[in-house]
Amino acid sequence: MEDRVAFIGLGNMGGPMAANLVKAGYQVTGFDLSPESYETAARNGIFVSASAVEAVKEAGIVVTMLPAGKHVLSVWEELIAAVAPGTLLIDCSTIDVESARQAHSLAKTASCLSLDAPVSGGTGGATAGTLTFMVGGANEAFTRGEAVLQKMGKRIVHCGDAGAGQAAKICNNMILGITMAGVCEAFVLGEKLGLSHQALFDVASTSSGQCWSINTYCPVPGPVPTSPANNGYKPGFAAALMLKDLKLSQDAAGAAGAKTEMGAHAAELYERFAALGHGGDDFSGLINFLREGK
Ligand code: NAD
Repeated sequence: MEDRVAFIGLGNMGGPMAANLVKAGYQVTGFDLSPESYETAARNGIFVSASAVEAVKEAGIVVTMLPAGKHVLSVWEELIAAVAPGTLLIDCSTIDVESARQAHSLAKTASCLSLDAPVSGGTGGATAGTLTFMVGGANEAFTRGEAVLQKMGKRIVHCGDAGAGQAAKICNNMILGITMAGVCEAFVLGEKLGLSHQALFDVASTSSGQCWSINTYCPVPGPVPTSPANNGYKPGFAAALMLKDLKLSQDAAGAAGAKTEMGAHAAELYERFAALGHGGDDFSGLINFLREGK
């Protein structure tokens, strides 16, 4: 049973993650509402089922990779009636902390083990099997799930109990949204002051301004040749996904009574950027919006 995985949600992330499990020797049965993914899945050795319930029959481990909390809860509600007690359910989607905790409760009612295990690393990391997993759930569930997660990622961090993985993910991405907005503003200011992109990069990337948003993902073309700025701001990490994560962080902050004014401002900037039709651009394209002073 432990070598049989059901994978629900074979989209941009789930498809390559499931393919890596096949490569690692797991027997993977997949399901997705959209038949678009079926051909690629079958080519990668995934058995495609007619329904989620069908896919989880005989699986010892179930992985879901879906758009949002409501999808995860509806799929898990359907699944828990069909899985054997003791099955390990792992949700890798990025969803709100409250829904993640509800999913854990659902699993408990069916005597199943569960983990929330959102990822960072994007579609490139999903394909290369180099994702970082931020994991929440009981020690027993983590011990059992670690091996399968290692086949899809290179760093697996147990962050705490139910929901802790999602909490870590949205806090990390709130930092990312804020730092990217700050780095974009600094380059726009530098331009107005007559400073070259390279000069600002050379100083800030080796001084106290250094961070991933400048050192690895610099939002202007030139200093970091692999950053999306050199490729017409094609994602990468789409602005719509950054907005989704910033909204999740703001919802969580509201519910927990945390004051996150910088996060709120970053969410508002990305909301305006996406509303102008740039949701599909890489999130570092925010610099163009800031430069134009919209
Ligand atoms: P996607 O839209 O490509 O894939 C989601 C898949 O879920 C789709 O194929 C859809 O048909 C399927 N689906 C929806 N409802 C379903 C249901 N009820 N039953 C079965 N299948 C269903 O999205 P993605 O880019 O793969 O992202 C998945 C999750 O990973 C999201 O929560 C996203 O925020 C997170 N994430 C994405 C990235 C990224 O770079 N794309 C990075 C980190 C995290």
